[in-house]
Amino acid sequence: MQLSSLVARLEPLLNKINSRKAQGADLSGMATNPHLQNPRKPPEQFPELSEVEVMRHYYRLAKLNYAWEDGLYPLGSCTMKYNPVINGVLAALPAFNELSPTLPAQYTQGALHIIHETEYMMATLLDMPYVTLQPAAGAHGELMGAMMIAAYFADKGETRSTILIPDSAHGTNPASATIAGFKVEKVPSTSQGLTDVIALEKLLSGDVAALMLTNPNTLGVFEENIIQIKQLLDQHGALLYMDGANLNAMVGRVSLGKMGVDLTQLNLHKTFSTPHGGGGPGQGALACSQRLAAYLPSPQISESIIDGNIVYDYYTPAKSIGRMKAFYGHFSNIVRAWAYLKTYGNQAGTIADVALLNANYLKQKLQVYLTPASQKPSMHEVVFSHKTLQERGLTTLSFAKALLDRGFYAPTIYFPLNVPGAIMVEPTETETREEMDAFVAAVADIFSHNKDQINTSPQRTFVKEIDEVAAARNPRLTWHIPST
Ligand SMILES: *Cc1c(COP(=O)(O)O)cnc(C)c1O
Repeated sequence: MQLSSLVARLEPLLNKINSRKAQGADLSGMATNPHLQNPRKPPEQFPELSEVEVMRHYYRLAKLNYAWEDGLYPLGSCTMKYNPVINGVLAALPAFNELSPTLPAQYTQGALHIIHETEYMMATLLDMPYVTLQPAAGAHGELMGAMMIAAYFADKGETRSTILIPDSAHGTNPASATIAGFKVEKVPSTSQGLTDVIALEKLLSGDVAALMLTNPNTLGVFEENIIQIKQLLDQHGALLYMDGANLNAMVGRVSLGKMGVDLTQLNLHKTFSTPHGGGGPGQGALACSQRLAAYLPSPQISESIIDGNIVYDYYTPAKSIGRMKAFYGHFSNIVRAWAYLKTYGNQAGTIADVALLNANYLKQKLQVYLTPASQKPSMHEVVFSHKTLQERGLTTLSFAKALLDRGFYAPTIYFPLNVPGAIMVEPTETETREEMDAFVAAVADIFSHNKDQINTSPQRTFVKEIDEVAAARNPRLTWHIPST
């Protein structure tokens, strides 16, 4: 019997295990305590199982996953890196964990200190004057930024309706700009994957509010014409928004202030030791230049000295776009980032150094098999096209599935859109040379097999054939008790 059908037989849905009415902990003796009485009625047919049944069910399911703990997770653009356990331990301390965000500032001085100091450390790393940790995630930071751009021009009495976005951008960029009320125009890339400066110049006018540029861009290449781009924007009074999701490539090594960046969002779940949520919260940050500070969302956190004591409080910036989130960020993720930055101290630049070294090492080793999308040196990630795969009758998708059979998570595929059949690999600073060599060996192994052998992949995963169209078109997003 194949492993997959064995596991499927052993691991039915919870309601199918529901043969007898079992119970986890018996709390009936405590029923007089009002805090322990559950006012909610369980739905009918709710499975009733013993604790050990429930625990084993989820443990078995968890073993079907490929997790970061299993090995290299080369998902380009996502920056899947190791998050030190100590940061999670600190975030879980009861003093943090049980703190209610509804408490007034005077009772949460410690938490406000941590948020404020994290903002300060990030501002220092970016070389920008203001950082807010209010955004819930990267895309939320983008939306805040786009709304601040709208508020800035409205305040100046200027009507500007367009935001320019390169064709290699992450899909959230045009989405954020559109939600904030802007029209989006696409800037083409050169054959080397850089923003086409001549095309940009032609698109610029008094109607352009900003350029939303990802740097390093989605090809993992540094926009080397950034100073020229900034000058062109200045000539037309347009702002420079930089998507900073790829900060892992240059944290602590590059001054965004000197690049003339007006706004940039960061993703703490990419660069600053917050786990990618698996549906749970990430955490964003938004940095801005002096001229945009008055439009920051409300509230912000101030630090002042009163009677010789440092006191933190909330304030509303003069021309604030208003509140963007019920509470200030996802606090426990801010604690993780704070601990992470404190651990690195003034050595944060080594994050970028090793991330770059690893990406370029993989590029050198993998270009024996795959064709890089750009000959420019890579920053933190490297993108290949499907050229050599097509020559062998393979697709990017079949290549990715063959990697699953060889014990690796697949890289990001078919993104960015401007590279045909893109394969995007990001090792991050976490990976050892041995792990990267094992990945290269898996790719070499794929290239040593013929197309019929590869096209039957995956064979060794729990689920083999997925109806990708149905998964995208008919997602089931609500929980229900399946009928038996
Ligand atoms: C991840 C990413 C985003 C979106 O960030 P979220 O935190 O997922 O909302 C935006 N731009 C780029 C370049 C990214 O890699």
